[in-house]
Amino acid sequence: ADLYGASRKNSAGLEFGSETVLDALVDGMKAHDGTALVAKPIVAISIEDIKPTPVLSPIDGRTVVGSVANLPVEAVDAVMRAGQAAFRDWSAKPAEDRAVILEKMADLLEENRDRLMSLLAREAGKTMPDGLSEVREAVDFCRYYAAEARRHFADPIRMPGPTGERNELTYRGRGVFVAISPWNFPLAIFLGQVTAALAAGNAVVAKPAEQTPIIAFEAIRLLHEAGVPVGACQLATGDGRVGAQLVNHPLTLGVAFTGSTETAWSINRALAAKKGPIVPLIAETGGLNAMIVDATALPEQVTDDVIASAFRSAGQRCSALRILYLQEDVADRMLEMIEGAAAELTLGDPRKASTDLGPVIDAEAKDNLDRHIALMRKGETVRFEGRVPKAGTYVGPTIVELKEARTLDREVFGPILHVVRWKARDLDKVIEQIASTGYGLTLGIHSRIDDTVDAVVAKLAVGNVYVNRNVIGAVVGTQPFGGSGLSGTGPKAGGPNHLLRFAEEQVLSVNT
Ligand code: GLU
Repeated sequence: ADLYGASRKNSAGLEFGSETVLDALVDGMKAHDGTALVAKPIVAISIEDIKPTPVLSPIDGRTVVGSVANLPVEAVDAVMRAGQAAFRDWSAKPAEDRAVILEKMADLLEENRDRLMSLLAREAGKTMPDGLSEVREAVDFCRYYAAEARRHFADPIRMPGPTGERNELTYRGRGVFVAISPWNFPLAIFLGQVTAALAAGNAVVAKPAEQTPIIAFEAIRLLHEAGVPVGACQLATGDGRVGAQLVNHPLTLGVAFTGSTETAWSINRALAAKKGPIVPLIAETGGLNAMIVDATALPEQVTDDVIASAFRSAGQRCSALRILYLQEDVADRMLEMIEGAAAELTLGDPRKASTDLGPVIDAEAKDNLDRHIALMRKGETVRFEGRVPKAGTYVGPTIVELKEARTLDREVFGPILHVVRWKARDLDKVIEQIASTGYGLTLGIHSRIDDTVDAVVAKLAVGNVYVNRNVIGAVVGTQPFGGSGLSGTGPKAGGPNHLLRFAEEQVLSVNT
């Protein structure tokens, strides 16, 4: 099965058709200076040598990708002060200079595309097409935020006023931003947060997910090569304790976070309890994303879009489809097609071109998903379950029919699709049910009736609505991405308002 339809040629001109092409690249892989891959803090202060621990690949749970040394919690204060010192120069740079550096970073990412794809496969379990689109997205973030820096930060905005008075509004960086990022897009979202904060003139301390420190290390190394001073963008590898210290530090003047709703709540509480400046939180969190399919939808297209939305990236996207609402009259036929297509999916080593689903990120994720499936087996109907390889943290594509949607009240982050049937006269009940979850990230509608589409769009406060297509893979600058309610604060990543939330405003009024 071709879950992707993506280009299967890499930049070296190698066809993805060869089963071993990415293996060769990965196994021969070393750090930029030829040594073994070690992720360690990249900070503008000197710290003692820290003993690294191995980073294991989710592909088989055994292979060592490299190792990671975490920033000692005691060093956080000095790191923040170094960030504050570097902030002055970085924020004083013309926006044009910052933009040029980010564009250079985009070029470096392109030059390093195959290496980064290899690392994404090995450290995060990303398939080749997923790795390719992730590198592209990271490049897009750099270029888009560079253009946005020029648009918002280069010249003051002239405000109207009386004769003899000049009024100007300017944007500028706030100070040191802390960026806490997820493992599911360890390159694209990681760099999206970091480059947005930098473009707006902030210094950044980036705390990557514990599961994916090496890709973060490689990314920050490239950012420094592109021209960002080390103090303006430091890498703080570590677990939740490092994240908490960073959030609580008095010099932190903004937090950008992507991850679970629960962690966003706890960051919000920590910020609210702090004395001193009131610190904004930009959070992008989970979703309980639905797709409504009525009897006018095109079955082949629904099948393609459901399979991609629920199973691509092994369902480990916050945009992924979790509950499919099938209108009763067409449900049996659609389910037969969707299950048939799911049975064609290949699960396995993400470095192989034929693989559609790689592993989930780690053993804890697999346990949670397996437990959820076991729970579903008790009262609901598990209609389909894909076979899984023996080694590694794999979860097969799974389709569960629920008696009622209410059974699922939280995000289940993996390749598990829940299906509910609805009657044509009950569209309002479906809408109410979706609204009642409190999440508002993505929504799919498959219908050829404009009134149905309009009614659903008008009644649901969901961040990204997709009509007659899949619900994943928002494109930077085209589909600004992010939700509301339990799904996040906005402003949308890759959208025209994003940088402004990272900035402070100042108005200058001059009696001329
Ligand atoms: N932007 C991604 C998409 O549209 C999802 C981001 C996420 O999973 O956090 O699929």
